[in-house]
Amino acid sequence: MTARAGVVYLVGAGPGDQGLMTVRSLELIASADAVYYDRLIPPGALDGAREDAELVYVGKQPGVPSVPQEEIGERLIEAARAGKSVVRLKGGDPFVFGRGGEEGEALREAGIEFEVVPGVTAGVAATAYAGIPVTHRDDASAVAFVTGHEDPEKEESALDWEALARFPGTLVFYMGVKRLGENAAALIAAGRDPEEPAAAIERGTWPGQRTVSATLGTIAEAVEREAVKAPALIVVGEVAKRREQLAWLERRPLHGRRVVVTRARAQASGLGATLRGLGAEVVELPAIRIEPRIDSDEVRNAAAAIGTYELVCLTSPNGVRLLFEAMENAGLDARALAGVTVAAIGPGTARALAERGVLADVVPERFVAEGLVEALAEVPIEGKRVLVARAAEARDVLPDALRERGGKVDVVPLYETVREEPGDEEIEAAQSADYVTFTSSSTVTNLTEALGDRFPSSARIVSIGPITSETARAAGLAVAVEAERHDVDGLLETLLADAGAL
Ligand code: SAH
Repeated sequence: MTARAGVVYLVGAGPGDQGLMTVRSLELIASADAVYYDRLIPPGALDGAREDAELVYVGKQPGVPSVPQEEIGERLIEAARAGKSVVRLKGGDPFVFGRGGEEGEALREAGIEFEVVPGVTAGVAATAYAGIPVTHRDDASAVAFVTGHEDPEKEESALDWEALARFPGTLVFYMGVKRLGENAAALIAAGRDPEEPAAAIERGTWPGQRTVSATLGTIAEAVEREAVKAPALIVVGEVAKRREQLAWLERRPLHGRRVVVTRARAQASGLGATLRGLGAEVVELPAIRIEPRIDSDEVRNAAAAIGTYELVCLTSPNGVRLLFEAMENAGLDARALAGVTVAAIGPGTARALAERGVLADVVPERFVAEGLVEALAEVPIEGKRVLVARAAEARDVLPDALRERGGKVDVVPLYETVREEPGDEEIEAAQSADYVTFTSSSTVTNLTEALGDRFPSSARIVSIGPITSETARAAGLAVAVEAERHDVDGLLETLLADAGAL
């Protein structure tokens, strides 16, 4: 669904977990001319926006001057009148305590066309992640979403505490932390049972989600003691007790662990996503960036003549991707490798080849250059044309060994790994990490250089293999565990075992 010119889309971005954004919200963000967004939207929610899109922050933060509501409305109207397609992105659902109704009214009054895209509201999402079903056949046949913090300018409370006390079901309070003491007291005074189970859910669906359980009578004290902060929901109802059976988030193998991922940004997200799926809080500190070098004469010539090699060795998935790009630039595809023996350093590289229609002939058992040398023992090399396509700064173990066996070896650098400077916020978040993962020597070198004495020294270091470990030790780091299988899955297994989760 493409965003239409002159239309404003009031879009819910969900409660915080990026995976809970709707397909429609992502489509609209990807095509909009302008996105006006709030504070509590998922990290990465705007990653898919057009590069030339206008991204405007109009969030409200307690205690910080912000764009007044009327002005937000005016800006949306102005942008739509200028013929832009506009996404107004809000946390959760736009019509649940999101002032989406007011914005829609302002747009209608100005004659601007709008559409509403619902989002997953915190009241059902944070509760679900906390293992609290807001309705249950035995406990609650109704649920009420209630504001715990009304407009301070309102003279009289619109909340009918007596009705809420009698409400036959679950009460979910949004914006309820600040006035929790008063609200709980008001409910009890109006007749609600102080022994009724209650819970406070902080940062629901975000990394570090936390739930505090108590009763209606004790929840205010518990929230104060545990220093629960906004955004948080307060749940009052028998269902809050169901969490004892239904809590699942905290049971995930890496729950509560903070893990630093140091791969190049594009690759880090794969490992990061897996770690997140296991419950870890992931800090991405991409220390390196891949700079393709496929426009060099060397690469162009090698790619154009790929079919004349008898053996082609690939040492990383990036290498595979770039070799195929270089071949495509020369008007070639996988068929040019017919009759060529293809060797991959490990399963990741082999997978990247398979995705392009080439099944590797040789994959070693140990995924390091030495392992590949061993695995090639049976392959005739003497007098043969061999291509080693790899990173510019790789070790020479493989080409040296192949030359020793009489091969005519071309070493072609497809890319360079250059240092990337991590951001201050990420470095800060890394300080309390439980683990730092290293997947190559270059990430070790670049990250230690980039961080200096800001390296999180109390974290346990997980290394992908012996070469990476050696580099880490040379940089003065203590390697806690080393993967037995030297690929990303092997690294994950080792980390899980170390965390006592296997
Ligand atoms: N439109 C949003 C609500 C905005 S009001 C929605 O539909 O979810 C802001 C309040 O929502 C916060 O004070 C808090 O009570 C609640 N909230 C929003 N995100 C939350 C989260 N991730 N975890 C817990 N509560 C959240």
